[in-house]
Amino acid sequence: MKQLPEPSPLPESIPIPKADPPAEMDLVAVPTGVNHRTAAYAYAGGSVFDRRDFYIGAALIEHPRGDLLVDSGFGRDIAKQMATMPRLFRKLTKYDVWKPAVAQLEAAGYDFSRLSGILLTHAHWDHMSGIPDFPDLPVLISRRDRAAFYSREMFGNFRGFFQEFPFNWQDLSFAGGPYLGFPRHHDVYGDGSIVCVQAPGHTPGSIIVFVTLPNQVRYALVGDLVWQREGLTRRVQRPFPIRRLGDFDAEGNRQNILRMISIMQRIPDLIVVPAHDQRAFAEMSQLPNVTTKGLILSTE
Ligand SMILES: [Zn+2]
Ligand SMILES: [Zn+2]
Repeated sequence: MKQLPEPSPLPESIPIPKADPPAEMDLVAVPTGVNHRTAAYAYAGGSVFDRRDFYIGAALIEHPRGDLLVDSGFGRDIAKQMATMPRLFRKLTKYDVWKPAVAQLEAAGYDFSRLSGILLTHAHWDHMSGIPDFPDLPVLISRRDRAAFYSREMFGNFRGFFQEFPFNWQDLSFAGGPYLGFPRHHDVYGDGSIVCVQAPGHTPGSIIVFVTLPNQVRYALVGDLVWQREGLTRRVQRPFPIRRLGDFDAEGNRQNILRMISIMQRIPDLIVVPAHDQRAFAEMSQLPNVTTKGLILSTE
């Protein structure tokens, strides 16, 4: 296993950004199912015997100016969508749908008029499947991933299913300056509570979403920068053949892994949430009556 070098610390001149989250804010896990994988698939040096059911789902950011779902997990059309994917991909992908996000939220008595958009960490199938269950809802995305989604540079992604789909895309502007060492940022409500940065690599326009709650607990929703936390805690990338196939720019992704590690050293309490790590979602608020076959509650 090849461990990445220790990154240089985040310069002292870079401040920990201020955030002024409204008191009503919260971050809630919305699990929709799992994709059956192993640690060996998730990160270099992981064991083939270490079963890791990848979390497939969303995180709901509750904010008085409008709630946002970060990614959408499995949707009601997952079977139809999957049928448009290449045969080999279907053979290698064994998933289990618990309940689509829209149904999980319904069961929890969620008031859908509060929801103002879906914020995509990146335009991959397992993050987009649920979008059609929220017709007309704005889908916030980096311009680069929106373009890649319609091009050949991005693999699969239910293109057959989504070809004619009337997405209500809204490009993130990234009009803000440097943020924790990232060159630009997009502050969704201008209060520092939900801040997106560009972290290209896994896809051309992957983003990381920093969320700060009223109790000043900070989360970093890192999408598929790494698939499990060990990618950051052990400083290891995805295994070589997997990152070759699965990452648009593995070198760019590697640099963002290192940047994220130096941020974790600077902010030791930061809760890092890889989009497929169940342990990370267990560290959020949970919906009542959620349908799962059991989230893993242990943390490393
Ligand atoms: Zn992905
Ligand atoms: Zn993914």
